[in-house]
Amino acid sequence: MARALQFLVGAGLSPDTRAALLRAQSQAFSKQVPLMYLIASVDVAIGWYAIYGKIAGPLATYAPAGLIVASAIRMLMWWKRRDAPTPTTEAALRRRLHVTTALAAGLGFGFAAWTMTIFVYGDETIRLLSVGAFGITAISCVFLLVNVPIAALTLNASAIVVFSCFLIAVDGGDLAPLGVCLLLVSVAIAYMTLRSARDFADMIAAQVEAQRLSDMNLRLANIDSLTELPNRRQFFDRLAQCVERHRRGGKFYVGVLDLDGFKPVNDVFGHIIGDRVLVECAARFRAAIGDRYFVARLGGDEFGLIIENVDDDAAVIEIGNLVCGAIRVPFTFDDAIATLSASIGFAEFPLAADSPRQLYERSDYALYYAKQNARGEPAIFSLDHENQMKGVAVIEQCLRRADLDSELVLHFQPLYHVSSGQLVGFEALARWISPELGLVAPDKFIRVAERSEIIYAVTRVLLRKALDAALSWPSNLRLSFNLSARDLISPVAITQIVALIESSAFPANRIDLEITETALMTDFDCARLAIHELKRVGVRISLDDFGSGYSSLSYVHRLPLDKIKIDRSFVQEMEASDLARDIVKTLVAMCRNLKLDCVTEGIETSEQLRLLKSFGCTLAQGYFFSKPIPQQDVGEYIATIVLPALSAPKPLLTA
Ligand code: C2E
Ligand code: CA
Ligand code: CA
Repeated sequence: MARALQFLVGAGLSPDTRAALLRAQSQAFSKQVPLMYLIASVDVAIGWYAIYGKIAGPLATYAPAGLIVASAIRMLMWWKRRDAPTPTTEAALRRRLHVTTALAAGLGFGFAAWTMTIFVYGDETIRLLSVGAFGITAISCVFLLVNVPIAALTLNASAIVVFSCFLIAVDGGDLAPLGVCLLLVSVAIAYMTLRSARDFADMIAAQVEAQRLSDMNLRLANIDSLTELPNRRQFFDRLAQCVERHRRGGKFYVGVLDLDGFKPVNDVFGHIIGDRVLVECAARFRAAIGDRYFVARLGGDEFGLIIENVDDDAAVIEIGNLVCGAIRVPFTFDDAIATLSASIGFAEFPLAADSPRQLYERSDYALYYAKQNARGEPAIFSLDHENQMKGVAVIEQCLRRADLDSELVLHFQPLYHVSSGQLVGFEALARWISPELGLVAPDKFIRVAERSEIIYAVTRVLLRKALDAALSWPSNLRLSFNLSARDLISPVAITQIVALIESSAFPANRIDLEITETALMTDFDCARLAIHELKRVGVRISLDDFGSGYSSLSYVHRLPLDKIKIDRSFVQEMEASDLARDIVKTLVAMCRNLKLDCVTEGIETSEQLRLLKSFGCTLAQGYFFSKPIPQQDVGEYIATIVLPALSAPKPLLTA
């Protein structure tokens, strides 16, 4: 009971629960108002009818009329305010409850006074009627107010208790037993009111707690726990809302941002620093664009933006530059400094796309374009991108239908030993002869195949063909074969590649598998395991296109590599640029120090070859020696190059 009383005054309840309780009481009461006043009015009307013509005087006429009119006004007030929102502040709710209670007290006392009056002046029948009608009416009204205990108790006291006392006192105590009975009923009702008040408060407290937990869940489900930015789910919800809101007009932009060079930071400095970089990025985004635009973490080092209320592409590019610029400032931690950049792609609604998924895909494509063409710069999805995307979609469709076994062929490009001028082997380069598209270059279709599982089948078919072709070569020639980044991070693909190599008659120790940094940057640990697995079979590993991406020397140190292929862009700029020449020279020296073979690719002129020779580069490859040769012509090439070379050194290489 003590707890019930506590609930009655709201003591011991949290502010949230107290406010929710007051709100629930206010709503519960509001529903009962018309019924309560209607019952009371009917009671008065019955009494009035009973005394009509029997009791004279203004009391018998004006009092009931006044009570009925007062009830009607109260019902009218309720009707007018029935759709008004429930107040939200505790003070307003309390005020409302006080008014309710005061009105209930007034009503109770008014009806008790009216009943007592007709009791005094009425005959036996009227008395009986008034006691019965009053009892039923008062008890019903108290029950209707049961969820607003203060009002119920006040009505109980102002009506039932007052009338009980009256019955005990009137007529020299003749009706005292009836009065005591009614008093006991009043006490029982008060007890029930208090119990039900406690149960009601308990129920509201449980509801408040459930709501709190559900709010917390909702927050956790929509917030990225590391950066506290909205997460992927919230981003797509927000995007869907934006699309709906702008359907009837207006435009907005979606951006996808990706950090360049985050993976090496993670690999070199560890995940704790990696996490701190992400948290710092989120803080920089907030500082750069504040609350003006919506920024979410979509996962890993990818972030999403929604930009509303901007007029044109120039403004969006400016925002993109602001965000990318914020990331370019070096990240300084206790004893580490990490330098990153960010690329960002935007798509405009409704110009680029009009569905959330497509908008995302198109901004992602613009991002991809930015990464390929202008790293660290924003790009907006354009018609040009659309055409490229269509090209990709067509290639993908044809690739899915392709008979890979008959449509994929190999060309082989020779590799030479720089100082001795000897042919040392060939790199297998894929070509796709599609019945629909004709000859498709590998940098087109491999990239598309890598977007799905198709790449695994492509690699398998090509490797089998390369191994079969190399079987007929002289035993001193090696085979270089390119692995896709996806192969390297798929344990299943690696198992299949190992099985193919082991089942082939071509010796594994004459195979060089070329890998790129992309795989290492995607999942270093997985790629490292794969490399160990491949080396176990006896193959050698070359790191291809070195220097073209976010090359990190830490990879070279931490992986059992055998060769490094310097990216052809440096070799080709060597003649015109001192910097490119110095880079190649340094890379060649680095390979020598690390006891790794060094391959330079893309050699087109004798001057390039001369420079490489002077740097001490081991192996070379390029159009200067030969373009990739169709598989069927390789035998003839070997015959014309290798056999004469045995008697006289190839004059080309003396350049
Ligand atoms: P990559 O592995 O860097 O292969 C060398 C590319 O440079 C080849 O292009 C080759 O034709 C070209 N190249 C060679 N020497 C010269 C030169 O002197 N000048 C110029 N401008 N280019 C030269 P290709 O055959 O079009 O292959 C492009 C890329 O496609 C390859 O680059 C490789 O990343 C990928 N690729 C080719 N075949 C395969 C394959 O079987 N599997 C996988 N996963 N990727 C492949
Ligand atoms: Ca290669
Ligand atoms: Ca290469």
